[in-house]
Amino acid sequence: MGRLSTLFAPERVAVVGATDSEGSVGRAVTANLLDSYTGEIVAINPNKDTVLGLTCYDGFDAVDRPATIDVAVVVVPPTVAVDVIADAGEAGIENVVVITAGFGETGSDGAERERRLREVAREYDLNLVGPNSLGVMSTPVGLNATFGNEMASEGDISFMSQSGAFITAVLDWAAERDVGFKDIVSLGNKAVLDEGDFVAEWGDDPETDVILGYLEDINDGTKFVETAREVTQETPIVLVKSGRTDAGASAAASHTGAMAGSERAYEAGLDKAGTLRVESVQELFDYAQILSGQPLPDGDEIAIVTNAGGPGVMTTDAVGDSDLTLADFGDETFERLREEMPDEANIYNPVDIIGDAPAERFERALEIVLADDNVSMAAVVACPTAVLSFEDLAECVASAQERFGTPVAATLMGGKSVGAGAAVLGEAGIPNYFDPARAVGSLDALRRYREIQSTTYEEPTTFDVDRERAREILESAARRDSNRLGVEAMDLLDAYGIPTPQGSVVSSPTEAEAVAEDIGGDVVMKIVSPDILHKSDIGGVEVGVSVEDVRDTYEDLVVRARNYQQDATILGVQVQETIDLDSGVETILGVNRDPQFGPLVLFGLGGIFVEVLEDTTVRVAPVSESEASGMLDDIDSAPLLRGARGRDPVDEGALVETVQRLSQLVTDFPAIVELDINPLVATPDGVQAVDLRLTLDQEEL
Ligand code: ADP
Ligand code: MG
Repeated sequence: MGRLSTLFAPERVAVVGATDSEGSVGRAVTANLLDSYTGEIVAINPNKDTVLGLTCYDGFDAVDRPATIDVAVVVVPPTVAVDVIADAGEAGIENVVVITAGFGETGSDGAERERRLREVAREYDLNLVGPNSLGVMSTPVGLNATFGNEMASEGDISFMSQSGAFITAVLDWAAERDVGFKDIVSLGNKAVLDEGDFVAEWGDDPETDVILGYLEDINDGTKFVETAREVTQETPIVLVKSGRTDAGASAAASHTGAMAGSERAYEAGLDKAGTLRVESVQELFDYAQILSGQPLPDGDEIAIVTNAGGPGVMTTDAVGDSDLTLADFGDETFERLREEMPDEANIYNPVDIIGDAPAERFERALEIVLADDNVSMAAVVACPTAVLSFEDLAECVASAQERFGTPVAATLMGGKSVGAGAAVLGEAGIPNYFDPARAVGSLDALRRYREIQSTTYEEPTTFDVDRERAREILESAARRDSNRLGVEAMDLLDAYGIPTPQGSVVSSPTEAEAVAEDIGGDVVMKIVSPDILHKSDIGGVEVGVSVEDVRDTYEDLVVRARNYQQDATILGVQVQETIDLDSGVETILGVNRDPQFGPLVLFGLGGIFVEVLEDTTVRVAPVSESEASGMLDDIDSAPLLRGARGRDPVDEGALVETVQRLSQLVTDFPAIVELDINPLVATPDGVQAVDLRLTLDQEEL
């Protein structure tokens, strides 16, 4: 067990601020502890002699052997809370649950108080929950150190929530169902302990089979990814992350910045962490139930057994929407079904054993399909009929499931006739739903978790690059006192082995002509100015310029830039080799930095309409080879890369390598805040970074 084991399994708990005044939080906490806690309760309050029958002490000093108090629950007013917590630290207490509110959530005084609270916690090395927490629960010792109105029943789910109110709602809901918990923690303001700490703790806890979380944000994304990735190998983590708005995105200076906002950072980060992210509270508990009740499937093929045509089709549709596939039965399965089922039955998946099926027919059909090696899981979908008892059916399903050890979900469609059957299924750990889509969704969660478990962590590749040269390029930009760099910094890509077309930035028509002659053939010319973000928008890009026209084009480009902005800083004009776009695909490769998760790499369909089409995918850097190639699979336009309409497929290997090289560049240089390579032209012969834009944070250099 981890460092927080005494927080959840204390032998002695103190309530600081214990009171019996009606309606107070202090009374609720004390009464909840008295209700079910198996250990010793120490009440502390200098203004009381006894509270609810407990002797009340003036302070920790007055208590016999205060250092043996495992947890201090703090419910005093905010003005004295920090001092009380320091006292607890001084007395040698390690775990503190701060229920008191009036900290960071309440303006500048509160923020200052929270800062002091952190300091005290650091000084005494406290495991501190909250402040502004509902409290903690742990069912094996009957610990209810909360001011909620319901104690959890025992089970193997541990649950953390950033909303205390949501915990009370969930417990009320769970009281009606077969959902039990091991530990529950209300995270509050997360001044000290946060989601990463609890994930680590429960990952080490043999009594926790599933970790659930309701989160509004993540304190330290990088730490969370590291911890969760390890824990999830043993224990599934299912999360609802609320707050999906993207306030930061509008200020971005790059396409990547605009598209890879905080919501996508969470998506990518939680994915990298190996968590199962769900959209709704219903899914949260659907997943929790099936993960704790059913074994993992050994594949993604599902068999459906039903007594009703319509619901069978609904289930099949749901399979189509999921990542599961309908199992193809082997010959023996067909033979047995043909032999044992009525002539009118449909023996093909979904198996329809027709409306007059009693429970025993369900059992036979289920046994036959579960015996098939091509079947990894099953959904039983039943509508009420005069010849079918749901309770009997539930017994049959439970016994077949147990015999085969294959995951099963049930859909007993109905209302009042479902109760007894659902209870039998619940007892056997088999989830039951009205809606077949939920049964399929839950089975799909098992598949997804199996996939997470079987992914082994892969170190990112380190390429041989010229880091010094890259640093010089960034520093010279910093000397120009410029945070925005464009194509004049193309050598940066070169230093990291990302191919760029031949070309250079010049500051006179004569030089431009010389470069064009050197390149040979028609060239592309672009205005180079930190004040012009999107060059083609102002006529700042000319494609197909012949050598004779280079001088005039140079002047034209400068005039257009001046017309756009009189005082624009013009660094010159880039003369660049023409890349054959007809045989290639314009992609975008970019980077944005997220405050929680660090650098994000974005890849997708590029060109000048990138934000209109928005076909992109995001990963948290550093990106490994398989993550990079996964990015290519992810986008909707993937077929374009793979040679749609008779074109030659692009060099995917070169693309995958370029994604990783860029990931290495931004990992090496925290000073790169945002970066776009748009377009990165992918052709059958490799890739070419045709355009570059980046923003620097000089202080990080
Ligand atoms: P911006 O994005 O600032 O408008 P780009 O350098 O990306 O400027 O150029 C805009 C478009 O011009 C590209 O998306 C591409 O279609 C075309 N283009 C730019 N450079 C080249 C080149 N060297 N060869 C062929 N086409 C180019
Ligand atoms: Mg561009």
